[in-house]
Amino acid sequence: MPIARGYAATDASKPLEPFSFERREPKEDDVVIDIHYCGVCHSDIHQARNEWGNSKFPMVPGHEIAGVVTAVGSKVTKFKPGDRVGVGCFVDSCLHCATRDVDREQYLPGLVQTYNDYEADGKTLTQGGYSDSIVVKEGYVLSIPDNLPLDKAAPLLCAGITLYSPLSHWKAGPGKKVAIVGMGGLGHMGVKIGAAMGADITVLSQSLSKKEDGLKYGAKDYYATSDAETFKTLANTFDLIVCTVSAGIDWNAYLNLLKVDGTMVLVGAPEHPVPVHAFSLIPGRRSLAGSMIGSIKETQDMLDFCGKHNITADIEKIDIKDINAAYERVLKSDVRYRFVIDMATLKG
Ligand code: NAP
Ligand code: ZN
Repeated sequence: MPIARGYAATDASKPLEPFSFERREPKEDDVVIDIHYCGVCHSDIHQARNEWGNSKFPMVPGHEIAGVVTAVGSKVTKFKPGDRVGVGCFVDSCLHCATRDVDREQYLPGLVQTYNDYEADGKTLTQGGYSDSIVVKEGYVLSIPDNLPLDKAAPLLCAGITLYSPLSHWKAGPGKKVAIVGMGGLGHMGVKIGAAMGADITVLSQSLSKKEDGLKYGAKDYYATSDAETFKTLANTFDLIVCTVSAGIDWNAYLNLLKVDGTMVLVGAPEHPVPVHAFSLIPGRRSLAGSMIGSIKETQDMLDFCGKHNITADIEKIDIKDINAAYERVLKSDVRYRFVIDMATLKG
C-alpha cells in the first residue's frame, strides 16, 4: 500500500498534527494525484472539531485539492500523467444507486465524502487533501483549465461550486438582485461568480472593512449588517440571498430583505439550530432553502466557466505547519479570502 504523509486531527479537542497513513493500491479506474495545494474550508474546522456531531478520527481534512496526475489505472481514458486536476468534496456517489444521477448526485445516499467518511469497503476511513497524494476514481476527478493557476484554483473545488450551484439553480443573471451574506472564502467566490453571471450583486458583511475588495470583485453595493439602518434600507429588495455565514445569525432579519417570491438559500452551516418566524415567510410568499456543493458535472461546468472568465480565489498561501494558527484566523474572519496549504512545505 502506498504511504501518504499529511496532517490529521486525532480528536475533536486536539490541534492537527503530522500523520502518515495508507492510500489504497490504485485500481484499474483510479487516478493517482500528487497534491500541490489544498484550500482550508470552514467545513474542515467544523468537522475537525466535531461541531456537526458526525466526526470520525483520525481525520485528514481537506476537500479543495489541486495537483498533478502521476499514474492512471488501465481503464482510465480521461486523464494521463502530467494532467492538472482537482478533487472536491466527494470521491464516490453511486454506492447504492443502479445508475449515477449526474445532476443531483451530491444529495443521494451513496455519496462518499473525500474525508470523514468510509470507502466503498465500509471500513476504511477516507482521508482528505492535507496530504501529499490521493487515489481517486476517474469519474470524480476534475480538469483544471490551463489558464488557472493551481494554488488559486484549489478553492473552486468547494467554495467555488458551493456558490456556483445555487446561483445557477436560482437563475442569478441580468436583472436579478442578489445578496451574498458574508465575505469569506465562499462569499468572495459568490461575488465573483454572480457578477460574471450578470447578476446585480450586493454584499452584506459585518463591517465595511472589505468593501473595496467586494466592489473590485464585481459587487454593485456593499452594506454593513452591524448598522441597523441596512435592514430598513434594503427591506423587500432581493430576488435571491445566499447566506454563507458559518455562525448562527438572525435569519428573520435577512428574510425580510427578500422581494415577494424571493428565496434565501443557506450554504453556511452553523453548529446550532436557528429559529425562523412563520411571518418572515408568509407575507411575501418567501422561501428558505439549502444547497450543498454541486455534482461532478456541475463542478466541471463551474471550472470551465471560471476558466472562461478568468475567475480564481484570492488566497493566502501557508506552510502546513501553520494550519492550527490558520484555523484560529478563519474563526476570527481574518483571512483574505482563503488559506491554501502549499504541500511542498510538507514534502520539504
Ligand atoms: P469563512 O471563510 O469563515 O466565511 C464565513 C463568513 O461569514 C466570514 O468571513 C464572515 O463574513 C461571516 N461571519 C462569520 N461569523 C459571523 C457572525 N458571527 N456573524 C455574522 N457573520 C459572520 O467560511 P467559509 O469557508 O466561507 O464557509 C462558510 C460556511 O459555509 C461554513 O459554515 C461552512 O461549513 C459552510 N459550507 C457549506 C457548504 C455547502 O455545501 N453548503 C460548502 C462549503 C462550506 P464577514 O466578515 O464578511 O461578515
Ligand atoms: Zn468546503
